[in-house]
Parts: sequence; C-alpha cells; structure tokens
Amino acid sequence: MTERAQKIPASSEHGGFGASGPGGPAGADLCPVALVGAGPGDPGLITVAAARLLAEAQVVVFDALANSVLLELAPPGAERIDVGKRAGRHSMTQAQINALLVELGRSGRRVVRLKGGDPFVFGRGGEEAEALADAGLTFVVVPGVTSGVAAAAYAGIPVTHRDFTTSFTVVTGHEDPAKPQSRLHVDALAKLDSIAFYMSVGTLGRNAAALIAAGKDPSTPAAVIERGTWADQRTVVAPLGEIAAAAEQAHLAPPALVMIGPTVALRQKLNWFERRPLFGRTVVVTRTRQQASGLSARLVDLGARVIEAPTIRVEPPDDWSAVDAELRRLGEYDWVVFTSANGVSAWAGRCRALGLDGRSLGAARLAAVGPATAEALDALFLRADVIPEEFVAESLAERFASQGDLGDRRFLLLRADIARAALSQALVGLGATVADVPIYRTLRADSLPVELAEAVAAGRVDWVTFTSASTARNFFDLADEPTRRALRSGTIKAACIGPVAAEAFADLAGRPADCVADEHTIPGLVRAILRRVEGKI
Ligand code: SAH
Repeated sequence: MTERAQKIPASSEHGGFGASGPGGPAGADLCPVALVGAGPGDPGLITVAAARLLAEAQVVVFDALANSVLLELAPPGAERIDVGKRAGRHSMTQAQINALLVELGRSGRRVVRLKGGDPFVFGRGGEEAEALADAGLTFVVVPGVTSGVAAAAYAGIPVTHRDFTTSFTVVTGHEDPAKPQSRLHVDALAKLDSIAFYMSVGTLGRNAAALIAAGKDPSTPAAVIERGTWADQRTVVAPLGEIAAAAEQAHLAPPALVMIGPTVALRQKLNWFERRPLFGRTVVVTRTRQQASGLSARLVDLGARVIEAPTIRVEPPDDWSAVDAELRRLGEYDWVVFTSANGVSAWAGRCRALGLDGRSLGAARLAAVGPATAEALDALFLRADVIPEEFVAESLAERFASQGDLGDRRFLLLRADIARAALSQALVGLGATVADVPIYRTLRADSLPVELAEAVAAGRVDWVTFTSASTARNFFDLADEPTRRALRSGTIKAACIGPVAAEAFADLAGRPADCVADEHTIPGLVRAILRRVEGKI
C-alpha cells in the first residue's frame, strides 16, 4: 500500500465528529458543526472526509445546489432539512439558516451543513461559520471541489496552462459593474488571463461589455457552462463580444459558470466529458434496486443519465421448510446448481440462519449459469466447477449432456421461483435425479418512479435495458401508456441481455429488441448498446 493510500482516512483531521455524543452538556464537548463542501454536482466529487461526516450525521442541512443523491450517504434515520430555494416555495433567509445552525449546534446532535461546491467560495459558508463562532460553538470545515474549477475541467477547459496563463481569478458576477458602489474591479480584471464568473448568467451582457470597455479583447475565448459536472451539462462557447447573445439563444439558466480566457480555446481538443459515447442519452435500468448499481455505474461512466426503475424485487420464500431440508443434506448431492447471483446470496443467508457454513457442501460440485453467479460464489471463497459457454440455462444443460449418461447423478437446483423449467427438464431427460427448490421469490415492483413517466413525457428517454424476461414483462405491466407506446414504436429503444429477455420483449412490443448482448452479462449488455449507438450494428 502506498503511503498516500494509507493516509487518506486515517490521518484526516476531519476523521469524524469526535468523542462527544448526542445530548451531551452544552459547552466544549459538544460535537462540532461540520460545514461540508458537496462538490458541484457529480456525486463522485465528494471528498472522503465529507462522506465520512455524512455517514455519521444525525442532521443534514442542505440546499438546492448540492446533489441530493449525497443525502443517501447519511444514515436512514438522520433528519434532512432543506433550506434551499425552490420555485414557488419560500426559502429561508441567510439569517434564518445561521440561526438554525446555531440551534442545531446547541442541541448536541451531529450536524452536517452540506453546501454546493466549496463552502467558502461564494457559498456564504464564511457567514455561517461566523454565526457559529459568535455563539461560542465549535465547527469544522471540509473544503469541496468548487464549480469554477470542476465545471471548467468537465468542459475541457484547464483553468491554467503554462503556455497561456499566469493567473486564475474567481469573481462573482452578481455585482453590477455599472453601479458606482460596485466592488468589481473591472479595470484590473480586464488585465487578467483566466477568469471564472460565478452567479453571472443574468449579468453576462453587462459584465462582458464592461470588460471590453476596460480593454479586454472582444475576441477573447469565453464559455458558459450550465450544470457543470452533471450528466446534463451544457456548454456554449463564443468570443467574449458575442457570449451573452450565444448564452441567451441557448436559453442557458443557473447554475452556470462563465469562463473567460485563452484556455477556453483548448476545449476543442480537451472536451472529454461531453464526448463520451453515451453523453446526453438517458437509459432506464429495470433490475432490482440492489442489483442496479453495477449496470448504472457502467452507463454513467460512459456519460449516460440513468433512471433506475426497478421492476422486480427479491423476497424470501413464504415457507423455508423445503429449502431447509435440502440445505441440511447438501453434501448428498453431486452437483449444486446456481442460476443467479441472487440465488447464491439467498443460499448463503439461509445457511447462516441455520448455523451452517460452506462446509455443508461436502464434496458436492458447483455449477454457475454465468460469470456474475460465479463471482458471487467466489466472494464466498467457493469456485464454480462449471460455467457454460453461453450464459443461459440451455447451455448449462448441454454442458452436462456432453458428460454423457447422468443416470447416477444427483442435482440440486437453487433457483428463483419463476425460473424456467428448461434446465431441470433437460437434466431429468438425461437421466439425472433433480431436486429443484425455489430459494427466493421474484415479485413485481408496486410501481415505477414518477421520474420515469416525466422523462418519457419530456421525450428524454432513449433506452430501456432488460436483464431478464421478467423485467420486460413487469415493465410493460407497470409502465404508463405513453411509455409502452414509445417502446412499441421504437422511439425508446430496448436493449436485452440475452435471447430469453429479447423474446419476451418482442412478444410484448410487437417488434424485435434494438440490440441483444452477444455475451449475456452486464458488460456484454453495455457493449451491445455502445455498438448500436456508434452505428456498428
Ligand atoms: N460554493 C459554490 C458556489 C456557490 S454560488 C462553489 O464553490 O461552487 C452559486 C454559483 O456557483 C452559481 O450561480 C454558479 O455560478 C456556480 N455553480 C454552482 N454549481 C455549478 C455547476 N454545477 N455548474 C456551473 N456553475 C455552478
């Protein structure tokens, strides 16, 4: 392990809230209020220190700028207080927020004040810290990745570059440069290289004109980055003299950052974020909430906006008695067959509950239907003896068939209640003795998130992914009519993990899926979408 890696959490000054607990006496041993930077939007830009404080928080005070996904890092029981500005709803004044922080600080609870970007860069974090200090309360500050640096980086604009700049300046665009009392030093700014204007969408025309009047070349490259680092980031580039008109024409709205300076021109070469293959596309993930994350993360890394709309949920069987009887005599089987990672975790969980462990397998050999199932076994330090060529039940049956007569072999299939009978029938056909027990139930979700229907209505959904026949069937059951219609017409495309899911989709939609994975795995599914998007299939 490198020294740096070792140091990250251990040496952090912000390693936690300290020893004092909730409800302690007022005074020095109250835990400090944490003023924490959330970063500009991409939740991956949260710091280790911030994540740790959130994980221990009892109260989180947040506003509109911070990505609300980060609230999930706080314990489920933590209180979440929104003090942000929301259209149509009265928001708290800064004085009220300060008073709230003081009150919460005095309560002795572990308080995180989560702020967009960095708390001390135009975030009024300084005022909040002052209020705490004035009240005699202790606090800690966790800097965040500020939007001036991050939005620029995600737009492919280095804020400095040795060949072009010697300075990087951060200013507020909120002040009107034309007002006599303005503290914006336009004359000085006009001489500087790289300038990031915060809070400046509304005042862009005036600020650009003032800079030009003070001597800045109107052909200086400029960019406006709307919702920088979010999956729907938009960037407009134009010379300083035309940037205000260009931003208005594109209807750019806050939060947006204005970058002015020669390094903006580098975006042509360095625009990595918006050039990712799935950038600007919205993809729906229909797996269970627990299983969605692997697929979602891959899609997000490729630039997609992901809507998780679980169509199924996994539940234990109503009655364990049949399963328990088999689990107690696993060692009598020649083969134990797992047809999903869910099956492996259900098996491990039930073994634990029965006081059994991996040794209960005895000499039984293990078969896994595909690599994800094999990986779930591997995580339990169990190696699959057989993984078929193609990751479907038929292929597993063929694999056993090639071993000849199975007449004296005993198989136990630990599977979902709704698994197809294909494997079991094939093995019986080969003369094997097969015990087939549902170890978990796959139930249809109650509903799909409203976010999905809204996105479909706005014409923003491009793909839906189906990782099994049941996700396809349930999705059609649960989706509203506009969504079903869009899938039938092909306005929304469908990507399926394999032939069984694809057949179910074709039956429901009356047309074939737009792409089917060659390799029936999550990486295979993502590759199929990529190939289709890039026009290779
Ligand atoms: N503390 C924050 C800034 C708060 S002031 C930080 O360090 O980033 C609010 C201004 O920040 C917005 O008007 C906008 O100019 C900028 N901003 C915040 N998030 C942004 C984002 N994701 N993309 C572009 N600009 C952003």
